[in-house]
Amino acid sequence: KILNVDLGERSYPIHIGEDVTASIGSLLADRGIKPGTSLLIVTDRNVAALHLDRIVGLLGQAGYKVGTYIAEPGEATKSLAVLQDIIGTALDTGLDRNSVFIALGGGVIGDLCGFAAASYMRGVRFVQVPTTILAHDSSVGGKVAVNHPKAKNVIGAFYQPEIVIYDTKLLLTLPPRDVRSGLAEVVKHGLIWDEDFTSWCNENAGRLLSLDLEALGEALYFGCKVKAQVVSEDEKENGLRAILNLGHTLGHALEAVAGYGELTHGEAISIGMVGAARLAGKMGYPGDIHTVTKALMEKFQLPVVIDAAYSTDDIMSAMQHDKKFRDGKMVYIVPTAIGKVKIDSSVSADMVRAVVDELK
Ligand code: NAD
Ligand code: ZN
Repeated sequence: KILNVDLGERSYPIHIGEDVTASIGSLLADRGIKPGTSLLIVTDRNVAALHLDRIVGLLGQAGYKVGTYIAEPGEATKSLAVLQDIIGTALDTGLDRNSVFIALGGGVIGDLCGFAAASYMRGVRFVQVPTTILAHDSSVGGKVAVNHPKAKNVIGAFYQPEIVIYDTKLLLTLPPRDVRSGLAEVVKHGLIWDEDFTSWCNENAGRLLSLDLEALGEALYFGCKVKAQVVSEDEKENGLRAILNLGHTLGHALEAVAGYGELTHGEAISIGMVGAARLAGKMGYPGDIHTVTKALMEKFQLPVVIDAAYSTDDIMSAMQHDKKFRDGKMVYIVPTAIGKVKIDSSVSADMVRAVVDELK
């Protein structure tokens, strides 16, 4: 299946399906990346062990010159130090402005490689080959970044790929925890956009958790479709795009307080989405939003409570540091029904604090 991210001259396709990487060479050529072009594949050690040789082989057969950069797995890799190392490899291997970077991995690799591409020689083309479920979210939309020791994703850019090549077969090797984590973000796309898809997720949770490729293909198609639509309307998050942050204000705070890696991104936003639903209840929206959201997260075996070891004060102050606070007011994405959210800039810190305490 093919989707399009509609950004005028910078529009690009997303190819989703079983074994789509088999034709990676012709997909690149169709996007004007001609055989003979130098490519740098950026990946991590886990993905390299499982999938790199095959991709290098396919690209080599198609006539591309292929170099590789293999990073350590994990969030710590999204750093300026690793970025500099990648640029060093690009220089050593003689990559020029016509070369292309390829992100082969999850969100960490996509964000890192995308930012490397955005900055190398003031910008070279790049391609996303996502290998996690979560990366349906990170590979579409053009937000690329590395972390600063003080805050996540603060050194970055909006920089769109030439194409996203999403092979569901590559997901079969994912560890169960990353499967669940990625599915949290899939469910999020239903909760913000479409009640029917939310019901579909509920009915197909078992198939998705057991990596049924047909179900996965459908879920990723829907998730990418929502993301593509939202990004097409609001590329740089001046308005609508903020709805994608459902569960993320609290989720990011929990990730920071827990220490990155302790809670996965999906686990953190699962709790965040339950929190947002609770908040909605306090604001007078129907109580079933909370019941449905919580049951859904539990069905996907995701956490729905905050570990009592994390202090409410720490969580609150982590939220104040979140870039979603503007002019001293808290911008919160509040579900108003299943499949609908609103961007609310009047949520009081007291109300949020009460929700955090109740989630423990
Ligand atoms: P990740 O890239 O760290 O991947 C998770 C783990 O799975 C890693 O250990 C990785 O080595 C392993 N892995 C990846 N593919 C595999 C495969 N096919 N088989 C086996 N193991 C595999 O993390 P993630 O969960 O994909 O992404 C999280 C990152 O994405 C965060 O840094 C977050 O900030 C970012 N993100 C960015 C956006 C965006 O819009 N740019 C959106 C959401 C998340
Ligand atoms: Zn997210």
